[in-house]
Amino acid sequence: MSEDDVITHLKRLEEKIDIGFAQIIDRIEAIERRRNPTGETRAQLVRTVRDFYRSYNCPCCEEVAILDDRGSPLSIAQYDHWYSKSKSRPTEMWVVCQTCNLKLESDSDFKHRSQTRFASFQVRRDQLMQPLLK
Ligand SMILES: [Zn+2]
Repeated sequence: MSEDDVITHLKRLEEKIDIGFAQIIDRIEAIERRRNPTGETRAQLVRTVRDFYRSYNCPCCEEVAILDDRGSPLSIAQYDHWYSKSKSRPTEMWVVCQTCNLKLESDSDFKHRSQTRFASFQVRRDQLMQPLLK
C-alpha cells in the first residue's frame, strides 16, 4: 500500500466516522424529549425583558421589540432552549425574537457570538429573582 493509498483510506474512514456521529446525534435528538417551559418560567423570562431591556427589545439582537407596550409577549417572541430542547429551567432558557431563535438553532457562529448576551440576560433574571441588596 502506497502512502497515497493510506491517506485515501484514512480520509474514507474519517468520512464514515463523521457520518456515523451525525447519525448518532440525530438519534439522540429524536430520543431527547422536548420540554416546554412552564408558565412560571415563561413569566420569569418575560419579566426579565420587561424590567431590564430598553423598549422591550429582544435580549439577543436588541433590535426588535418582543413585548407589546403593556409588557405582554408579541407573537414574534419565542422561548429559546439555550443548551438543548430537553433543558427548560429558567437558567437554561431566554425569550428572544423569532429571527434570533431561528439563527440560534442553525448558525453556530451566531450562537457563539450571542453567548455573552445570554449570560447577561441570566445575570439580570437572577437579580430579579434574588436581588443582591436584599
Ligand atoms: Zn432578536
